[in-house]
Amino acid sequence: MSLSLVDLRKTLGEDKVVTDPDILRIYARDPASFEFELPLAVVYAESADDVVNVVNYAIKNKLYITPVFHSTSLSGNAATVARNTIVLSSERMNKILEVSDVDWLAVVQPGIKIDEFNLELMRYGLQWPVDPASSKTASVGGSIINGGGGVKGAKYGPAPHWVLALEAVIGTGERIRVGCRTLKCREGYDLLHLFVGSEGTLGVITEATVRLAPLPEAFVGIVAQYDDIVDLANTVVEARRRRLWLMVAEFMDDDGSDLVGLGRKYTLWMGADISAGSEEAVLTRLREVAEGNRGKVVAEAAKWGDFFKLLEPRRLLYPAPVKRAVESYGGNAVIMMADVAVPTSKLPEAMREVKDAVRLYGVPTITGGHVGDGNIHPTLWFDKSNEEQKKKAIKLFEHFGKIAIKYDGTISAEHGIGVHKREMLKTALEARGSTAALRIYKEIKRIFDPHGIFNPGKIFE
Ligand SMILES: Cc1cc2nc3c(=O)[nH]c(=O)nc-3n(C[C@H](O)[C@H](O)[C@H](O)COP(=O)(O)OP(=O)(O)OC[C@H]3O[C@@H](n4cnc5c(N)ncnc54)[C@H](O)[C@@H]3O)c2cc1C
Repeated sequence: MSLSLVDLRKTLGEDKVVTDPDILRIYARDPASFEFELPLAVVYAESADDVVNVVNYAIKNKLYITPVFHSTSLSGNAATVARNTIVLSSERMNKILEVSDVDWLAVVQPGIKIDEFNLELMRYGLQWPVDPASSKTASVGGSIINGGGGVKGAKYGPAPHWVLALEAVIGTGERIRVGCRTLKCREGYDLLHLFVGSEGTLGVITEATVRLAPLPEAFVGIVAQYDDIVDLANTVVEARRRRLWLMVAEFMDDDGSDLVGLGRKYTLWMGADISAGSEEAVLTRLREVAEGNRGKVVAEAAKWGDFFKLLEPRRLLYPAPVKRAVESYGGNAVIMMADVAVPTSKLPEAMREVKDAVRLYGVPTITGGHVGDGNIHPTLWFDKSNEEQKKKAIKLFEHFGKIAIKYDGTISAEHGIGVHKREMLKTALEARGSTAALRIYKEIKRIFDPHGIFNPGKIFE
């Protein structure tokens, strides 16, 4: 389509509208999308007014908008899959507007990167405890919109627990505020949490009020290794039985540990935030629970900073397969990260089945994840030019979803449905006897986005 963007440039300013094909190609996809369309332009919003202008322009010219923050979603959520799309980037909306050290909240522009936000919060002795492995790059807004979690999830839970209010521009061009500044907010339907998991399909958020937590007084953690995945899973189960409230419980399977240089063992990172003075007592409990399940403690840390370094290899769960896949398949490499979760009590059986499925299909896969909140991320790679390999890989990816459903879990714990899991979503809803939910999703979308402009091709389209 040849469309003049002159009006848009005039309204927003030249430097906010970019049409250089090399830049368009970068913004067209997230790391895991293997099919995409080139957008017409990338528009960098700097204010809610800019967003209103872009939305009105899209309505008038019958264009789509795919909103992006830092495009680190791994389900194709932020990829452009329809023609006639403008990518609307909020990455320049990255300021902290307020921090209240009494209300324990902050008001931010949503494009701020999580690590940059937390670095500033340290000055107040506070934290936003949503800590995805991508926290160096991923934004506060992206975590809220995807409903993401992170390595502190065993204790603090995911982003939806840590957002109080949002300001957004919806598909009529109107601005709305949802939620309140207070911890409790019971004003009619909970529109705030409709934005959680909306993956850019309901509106464009322009401001977020988030809850904060105090930084822990002290922290202790261990790294243990196992010969069997079930023993590792049982360690997490037993920690819960013993009422040991872990802040971190992360794992990597034998193939993953091998790939990141930890040896061919199943590796578990476990840690707890505690009161100062109880370090030795809690370390003893951590050791007991690991060794009681045939684990060998290979490292210990008595400070968060030291544990953070020990966690580095775990953060390679995605980058390491990217490197290996590109070495094997060059530009045809595709890496898909499944994002299933099961209730903690079902982890031993579910993790065993995931591992068996990987062996059965023979597709290169490593598995790791936030085992403390039941989240398992099998990460597989294949050559997209090899049809047979591609088919097998997609079948295995879907098989992981079926395992999650079988054990009362979810097909997506934090990365969202995006493009990759649209079919799996239908399967999951059917399995729960909830096919009506799809109709409700579509009707909700129509209310927020009556012209159907936001993020086409995602979740259920
Ligand atoms: C190495 C690696 C590790 C990861 N580890 C984790 C992890 O531990 N936990 C986890 O949860 N995720 C993880 N992820 C996935 C990803 O980082 C998160 O989902 C993250 O929250 C996405 O943030 P983002 O800023 O990149 O958002 P984007 O990917 O840019 O966008 C997220 C969604 O929000 C929509 N959107 C963009 N801007 C707006 C806006 N202004 N208003 C409304 N919607 C908008 C997009 O269309 C998209 O659907 C990981 C990814 C990588 C690459």
